[in-house]
Amino acid sequence: MIARRLKQEIRLQGIPASPGIAIAEVNLHTPEIDVTRYVIDTRKIEEEVQRVKQAIEECKADILNLKEKIGGKTDEIGADIFEAHILLLEDPLLITEVTSKIRKEKINSEFALLETIEKFKERFEDINDEYIKERKMDIQDVGLRILKKLTKWDEKHKIKKPSLIVAQDLTPSDSAGMDKTFILGFATAVGSRTSHTAILGRSLNIPAVVGIKDIMIYARPGDKMIIDGEEGLVILNPLKRTENRYIKKQFEIEEHRRTLITLKDRGTVTIDGIKIKILANIENPDEIVPSLETGAEGVGLFRTEYLFLDRLDFPKEDEQYREYLKAVKLLKDKPLVIRTIDVGGDKVFKDGEYIREQNPFLGLRAIRFSLFNKDMFITQLRAILRASEHGNVYVMFPMISNIYELQEAKKCLQKAKEELKKETDIKVGIMIEIPAAALLAKHFAKIVDFFSIGTNDLLQYTLAVDRGNEHVAHLYNPLHPANLRLIKETVDAANEAGIEVGICGEMASEIEFIPLLIGLGIREFSVSIASLLEVKNIIMHLDTTTIKNIIPPLLELPSHELVEKKLKKTIGPILKKIGAFD
Ligand code: PEP
Ligand code: MG
Repeated sequence: MIARRLKQEIRLQGIPASPGIAIAEVNLHTPEIDVTRYVIDTRKIEEEVQRVKQAIEECKADILNLKEKIGGKTDEIGADIFEAHILLLEDPLLITEVTSKIRKEKINSEFALLETIEKFKERFEDINDEYIKERKMDIQDVGLRILKKLTKWDEKHKIKKPSLIVAQDLTPSDSAGMDKTFILGFATAVGSRTSHTAILGRSLNIPAVVGIKDIMIYARPGDKMIIDGEEGLVILNPLKRTENRYIKKQFEIEEHRRTLITLKDRGTVTIDGIKIKILANIENPDEIVPSLETGAEGVGLFRTEYLFLDRLDFPKEDEQYREYLKAVKLLKDKPLVIRTIDVGGDKVFKDGEYIREQNPFLGLRAIRFSLFNKDMFITQLRAILRASEHGNVYVMFPMISNIYELQEAKKCLQKAKEELKKETDIKVGIMIEIPAAALLAKHFAKIVDFFSIGTNDLLQYTLAVDRGNEHVAHLYNPLHPANLRLIKETVDAANEAGIEVGICGEMASEIEFIPLLIGLGIREFSVSIASLLEVKNIIMHLDTTTIKNIIPPLLELPSHELVEKKLKKTIGPILKKIGAFD
């Protein structure tokens, strides 16, 4: 008799990451490859041997291709990794051991490879040496590469029907390769409100719940599941009555959204007549039409990483130009802030390729990566400059921590202009997302045209709390007075210098923080599509003259708990009146 898993309704609590309700089947996203051993027909052995040889050749071609594209622009560690991988792929011992295993044991190439890789690793097992540890990782990486080719992993991971993606974690490189057409929601075991899954859910305007510890234990492919992005809950195999309740809730949310959409063409002005700009955060030009339909006045943050992830080479200038131009054309003359690439941190290249670091968030990330790969950077800047001739484009540098970096970035921009033989007048801004930049904002304000405050990172670096780690998510509190002071410092510096300042971190998408941010002097919000109309609605019900005096004393408080308490008392009744809180 076949043992069947009893389907029971299971409720799992996580962290709400993107609002809404979705009901569909589970699609389990597992980066691990499940390899089973099976015996093959003697007549098929040579075919199997050929299969593994071809997979090795394809892997080699991928690496050589990447190496060629990057050219001399890699450091010693990067070059070492390429060399090590090629050497391993060309190692006669590897191919001999795998093929003789296939022939001797008459088994499938995937399993023969897996066992050979394990054997190779075991040879280094007891050697406690940094170099050897690295080689072990190389063997592991190479094994994974070949396995992916053998199992046609990339092809199989195509999503073909409406599904809810369940994963241990979703990194930007995981999601970059996904066709989003059929994705109705995300549920992950790890993560926090500003981790990639949360941002992705909000920019696609679909529900997401993160930090659901046991999701990978209970969820099975094909299981029916409900994602409640409002409460941070997922329900597996829901009972009929549970499902009906959620269908009703889904309908109510839709109704509420339909009411909000009536605000879309109205100006965002506070009760006392202060005009507030609302822009959209996008990760892909495909999000522009839905943003405009939601009432966005432009794009305040175009994350360009998607062009660089899930591939083994850097995108060429023309490819980038076409993408940026697409965005410009869709926006007509509305503003488009293009942020130069922010890879590193949680946004690594495919298979963790090229950069391997102990502390990626403190390492070769964002502008540091660009300045380390100047040719790649100038190529991106050239594409941005060319697109800027067709619309209202701004360029923004991420993760600036000192004046020198900004000067270097500007030199690259100048070089790109010279190469194009055009003196394009493009506005240049920086993300304020490192405390050092916020503290020196008055100096930066003299040499840039605008600031955009990235609270996702600003908070992570100010509080030394990993933004994607659910274990410390309770410490990641935007109300920390240190965070509020840095925001205020930045806004004041910008106002004094007469430059524009906006906010584009997820804090700006959280309705309970809107009055606070208005009180801190923010007049430009760049938010995810999912929150845009909610944010607008709140702003239209606020009176800045009332808020003005409430906020400054909060900056003097010693803890986020006290800020929260005080805010609840002062702003709570205002939000309640608007109907934002029950
Ligand atoms: C931020 O850090 O707040 C931000 C908007 O950038 P990202 O989330 O892409 O790091
Ligand atoms: Mg950031």
